[in-house]
Amino acid sequence: MIPFNKVFLSGPELNYISEAVNSGKLSGDGQFTRKVHSWFKEKYGFDKVLLTPSCTHALEMCAMAIDIKPGDQVIVPDYTFVSTANAFSNYGAQIVFADSRVDHPGIDENSIEKLITSKTKAIVVVHYAGVAVDMEKVQFLAKKYNLFLIEDAAQAIDSHYYNGEKRLPLGSFGDFATFSFHDTKNIISGEGGLLVVNNSKYADKTDMIWEKGTNRKAFFDGMVDKYGWVSKGSSFLASEITAAFLYAQLENIDFIQNNRLEIWNKYFQKLGALDSEMLPYLPNYAENNAHMFYIKTRSTVERRELINYLKSNGVTAVFHYLPLHQSDFVKNQSWNIKNDLSNSIRYASTLLRLPMYVELGEFEIEKICDLIIKFYQLK
Ligand SMILES: *Cc1c(COP(=O)(O)O)cnc(C)c1O
Repeated sequence: MIPFNKVFLSGPELNYISEAVNSGKLSGDGQFTRKVHSWFKEKYGFDKVLLTPSCTHALEMCAMAIDIKPGDQVIVPDYTFVSTANAFSNYGAQIVFADSRVDHPGIDENSIEKLITSKTKAIVVVHYAGVAVDMEKVQFLAKKYNLFLIEDAAQAIDSHYYNGEKRLPLGSFGDFATFSFHDTKNIISGEGGLLVVNNSKYADKTDMIWEKGTNRKAFFDGMVDKYGWVSKGSSFLASEITAAFLYAQLENIDFIQNNRLEIWNKYFQKLGALDSEMLPYLPNYAENNAHMFYIKTRSTVERRELINYLKSNGVTAVFHYLPLHQSDFVKNQSWNIKNDLSNSIRYASTLLRLPMYVELGEFEIEKICDLIIKFYQLK
């Protein structure tokens, strides 16, 4: 059976974990955490980053940092993972769902402005499949209405936005951005995440939130002579074991990315026989980081038949999110959702993800694509 995902070890992971263990310090903010932090700052020019146990934790840090309170509204795409919304509703926010684009599962940038009210506190965008949201449009709105802008870049490591002049890494646009290293993502540490703090006004506050509400980080950085309880916070540090594993992956990011891009391009080329409407679309300002290869089937029934056909031929293909506004959790809220979320519903019922992992070989890609083309010829 060809799996949907397979964890890839780039080489030095276990050696770095031994090194961390032998160093005698395994709790957070040690040598490997600092190496990871420096790596992100150098590679993508981020001013401030904090390694966390997951992207979900990093999103919760954002909610704490911007003081989300009951009554606040936060605009979130309807077609995303639960955590994008839950991190904010945990602190009492009402989630206002935005639809997907017609041509892409990512948030419809043009649908956001009419969702803004006097209670709106933040816009959270998700770079679905690592494909950039039109950040200039969203940044303009955040500025115009004085809202926080947060990028859930869980899937978007090493992806860029390009506007003809500037080529900027995703994660560099929002006041905050979050990445995931869950083992279904491009760069992994089992569980793991990163908070990027681009708004320098929140640099000290996020340090304290990270360190359980203390100024311990300032103490270790030599900025204060004792530390204590100074703010809200929680235990948002990742262990050195996580950091050691992750650092090995980061050192080999070019190898991992080149392989994934090659696989993505082979899929795109070999499936060229399908109706172009069924293939993934990239806006001209978005670069591809090969997080995901999906096809847009034409109905839920067709998707179910194709999943079963692939399965009976040894291939695992999977669908993705359910529309958040239709979830049991949201049904129990009094959020009065009236806006059109039909694109989100369409992607939830028709999008199909194909196997994508570094060790997926030419032979397997050929097999998967042949099966899909045969399925559509038979129809
Ligand atoms: C994977 C993912 C998350 C959650 O990441 P964790 O590290 O598992 O917490 C959040 N948002 C999106 C869009 C994701 O794809």
